[in-house]
Amino acid sequence: MSEEIKPSIGEWIEVTVCSFCLESRRSLEVVNSSNQTKCRSCKKDTRGTIVKVSVCPFCYNLITKFDTECRSCRKLLKGEEYLWALLKHYKAKINEIRQLVKGKDEDRLLRLVEELSQEEEILKELKDALSREGPVLKINDPVLKKELQKIREEETSREDIDFDEEDEVDIFDWLDPKDIIYREREFGALIVGQSTSSIFYHCVNEIRKCYIHGLFNATVVFCRALLEVGLREALKKRGLYKTNEKVIYLDERNLEGLLRECKDNKVLPRKFLEKAHSVRKKANSIIHPKDKPIKYSEEEALSTIKDTFSILEELYR
Ligand SMILES: [Zn+2]
Ligand SMILES: [Zn+2]
Repeated sequence: MSEEIKPSIGEWIEVTVCSFCLESRRSLEVVNSSNQTKCRSCKKDTRGTIVKVSVCPFCYNLITKFDTECRSCRKLLKGEEYLWALLKHYKAKINEIRQLVKGKDEDRLLRLVEELSQEEEILKELKDALSREGPVLKINDPVLKKELQKIREEETSREDIDFDEEDEVDIFDWLDPKDIIYREREFGALIVGQSTSSIFYHCVNEIRKCYIHGLFNATVVFCRALLEVGLREALKKRGLYKTNEKVIYLDERNLEGLLRECKDNKVLPRKFLEKAHSVRKKANSIIHPKDKPIKYSEEEALSTIKDTFSILEELYR
């Protein structure tokens, strides 16, 4: 399996794996679903089985939802040590983001934007693991116990873990508060809220933070991410989000593919499709600059937010 199609920790994706290896609890081998092929690992002819896989937080090899221990490193995928491993990855992600925001390093922040939802995935996985552990936490390590209790009690308010009040002030003290207040007001007037998914709110929140604090390129990139999430959800709701044999895992479908689906099924009027393509192109020009780096202005960032929200309003009308 090539590196690019590996899920991140906590993220679950659908892949086709060798049925024999799956059955025999050997490490998972990804095979091509459409043809009968010889499995590289067990050397048998196989057509493969579609399963949801993620990676082991200890050794990064593939695991399935049904595995109670890792197929490769044989560590338990439950209990104290497992929760510790997940928590460590989660904290590392949060810290990375924090450092980047603190260092005002917008370029590295942008690179991270692409994989930002990982932190959300790990948190989800942690909560899942906690619910499997049952109502009484049998954890000996007092530090781990306290951290896990915090996560269990916390009601989806990422903000609490991510940035506390004090940090918020001191991270951004290089900005003029008057500007922040103005932009906060501008943004507040734009909010739509019809989606159920937490990743949707996560994106809206990231856009809010980036815009308010003057990270206009990041704002544009997050607008594209929000569009992707919004379109995928809207298609799912209409029963139009289909699995494609050739697409190895579902969420791989990119914004361009989602927009094509919207066009073919007349989900979005032409005017909005054009707006969506322009948001997509703006974000792409930042991530893959052609000759010179692009710097979007406050006005451009705000108009991108407006376009994005108008598309979402049209979708969720
Ligand atoms: Zn095999
Ligand atoms: Zn492992």
